[in-house]
Amino acid sequence: MPGTLYLVATPIGNLEDITHRAIRILLEVNVIACEDTRHTRKLLNHYGIKTRAISYHEHNERDRATELLKLLEAGSDVAIVSDAGTPGISDPGFQLARLAIESGVQVVPVPGPSALIAALIASGLPTDEFLFGGFLPARSGARRTRLAELRSTPATLIFYEAPHRIAATLRDAFEILGEREAVVARELTKIHEEIARGRLSELATRFSTRERARGEMVLIIDRAVIESETKTEAAAASLAELVTTLENEGVDHRTALKKAARALGLSRDEAYRRLVAERGHRRI
Ligand code: SAM
Repeated sequence: MPGTLYLVATPIGNLEDITHRAIRILLEVNVIACEDTRHTRKLLNHYGIKTRAISYHEHNERDRATELLKLLEAGSDVAIVSDAGTPGISDPGFQLARLAIESGVQVVPVPGPSALIAALIASGLPTDEFLFGGFLPARSGARRTRLAELRSTPATLIFYEAPHRIAATLRDAFEILGEREAVVARELTKIHEEIARGRLSELATRFSTRERARGEMVLIIDRAVIESETKTEAAAASLAELVTTLENEGVDHRTALKKAARALGLSRDEAYRRLVAERGHRRI
């Protein structure tokens, strides 16, 4: 019987952010594959876990994945952990998960913290649809190109960013995406946690000094403004239809307009303006 591969999420700062199940699995598996064994040792010591730990990082990911697969095929259970958060998310884990799946080894997620989700839920920006873009390119040209590709994406944009690049990235984002609400979530779950909210241009100024731009950070940018215009267009397109339907049902014109505007999320003034434009002055 082959063993099981567990992808185990660990804290992103605060050591208490680990599940009971994660601790049990780290105690029970035969091997823990760590991004950095010295880093993970602190967590293991904190919870009295003495399981064998071996290194598994981006530089040896391919070779180690093959070795770990052999262990799994021979019946050992293996857990992957990264330095922080969820393995496989801008961290090693993907290669081994793929190999394991191809070889028929069971892959089990053990969910827990991830910086992108923690930052998103506290950002105050829409959570219903988001695009996680990992790390943006380090060079400005490539970064601006990537941002331009995402300009019309109708979703909250989330990126990991290094402190020495945050100011430049905020400036590029302002120039390419235009002024938008954004959030820099810094040092989440740690003593100096900060969730800085503001417009892109304000945040670019705020994080332009080295003292401010410290620690680990997630950048979140509001969705394309275009989206609300498109929504208004779409709503306006069905306005006349809805008003007519209500009128045909015997609702008087004023009430029909009020009801249709509310249903479509338009202000009464906007709805009136749109209806005049659409029907002409015939029936208004
Ligand atoms: N696998 C991790 C996860 O699930 O969040 C992410 C690993 S990635 C190599 C590291 C990046 O995650 C950092 O550069 C930073 O952008 C973000 N990050 C990790 N811990 C963080 C924290 N406590 N506060 C803010 N951002 C953090």
